Amino acid sequence: MNIIDRSSLKTKNGLPYFEIRELSKTGWLQHAFLSRQGGVSSPPYDSLNLSDDNGDKEERVSNNKSLIARAFDFDPGRLVLLRQSHQDQILWVREPLTALAHRLEYDAMITDCPNIFLGILTADCLPIFVADRKRKVIAAIHSGRAGTGLGITTKVLRRMKTEFGCLSENLLIALGPSIGPCCYEIDAKVFRPEWESFSIPKGGGRWNVDLVAINIDQMKKEGIREEQIFRIDLCTSCHRELFFSYRGEGQTGRQLSFIGITK
Ligand SMILES: [Zn+2]
Repeated sequence: MNIIDRSSLKTKNGLPYFEIRELSKTGWLQHAFLSRQGGVSSPPYDSLNLSDDNGDKEERVSNNKSLIARAFDFDPGRLVLLRQSHQDQILWVREPLTALAHRLEYDAMITDCPNIFLGILTADCLPIFVADRKRKVIAAIHSGRAGTGLGITTKVLRRMKTEFGCLSENLLIALGPSIGPCCYEIDAKVFRPEWESFSIPKGGGRWNVDLVAINIDQMKKEGIREEQIFRIDLCTSCHRELFFSYRGEGQTGRQLSFIGITK
């Protein structure tokens, strides 16, 4: 496992972000895990909120999107966002993009088309990128508790194999910031027995769950080796100055993580 810590934080046009060097080194990928800083939204959405369905002003969300597109030099109209619904549906993104004018209910996307930027919005959930170095296929996944329970990461990796001919040995996988086991307590109603080895019992039918470890376990079962995985190891709830955290704040914004094939 390759661990990326806070010292790797970079800034572009005043927007702090993380990138994974091994993904950038491919020469055909552009990506970033953005933070909450550098945008125009007011509290509780301060400030780089990209979600337009949780109470923030539409104009500010649109300004935030433009700030990111300008900093990373892509057309904001080429950024695909989903109506993420904590399910396990996977969207195959193809041209023409205009067919996706309305945000569709999916929690993961796969594409092999250049100049399409796949965006995932999170505030504690885990954003995951997958890139096939040989076949130039990418995926972006929104994996929260429900998606993890449904095995969304497993399903994306299998679909990349069956529909795009991807081989596990050629994949690079990046995990963005998400809520850590330090802050993520759930109760027996939503706890799954298969998570026991990735959880700390807190008594009274409550557990602190490590969502990242469960997703990594799903990857390993699909043939992914530790050295193919790159993890930004920051808990969103512990670092609320840098990230939105639903658990930590309740009403709040959503940060963007995006990935696209540039050529
Ligand atoms: Zn924490």
